[in-house]
Amino acid sequence: MLERYEDLDIDHFKKQGIKAVLLDLDNTLAPYYEKKINAKALSFIDSLKKAGLKVMIVSNNTQERVGGFIDSHDIDFVYYALKPLNKGYKEALRRLGVTNKEVISLGDQLLTDVLGSNLAGIYSIYVKPIIDKDSITTKFNRKIERLLFKYWVKK
Ligand SMILES: [Mg+2]
Repeated sequence: MLERYEDLDIDHFKKQGIKAVLLDLDNTLAPYYEKKINAKALSFIDSLKKAGLKVMIVSNNTQERVGGFIDSHDIDFVYYALKPLNKGYKEALRRLGVTNKEVISLGDQLLTDVLGSNLAGIYSIYVKPIIDKDSITTKFNRKIERLLFKYWVKK
């Protein structure tokens, strides 16, 4: 478990033979309401790539959401991954050309990211949701609150 994705010990996992990192998007890399990738997430992904790791965003969200989020950046992604089912993970492994033992997965939800990774035999790291942390220090405006509420209730 990590407090924040920046705390990932990249060297440690490189030494373990890890070749790729699967990243959840919503509430792991950014809150739901951030339409475009922010500088912090971008620099995290860059640091993974610089360390020689492949990176793939694996999201249950739509092509529009994930594609819009990465914007014009060169970041691979799987959308509509159907986590905790195997579909998205299988696609990610195939496209990355790695086995389930050569990747780690980061995500903020136990029932999708962590369960799904475990079912796929992938080492999973639970990252505390960004919004829970933010809510302590940040006052959301009501509009955003309503959007989030709608999302959670829908689930
Ligand atoms: Mg998430």
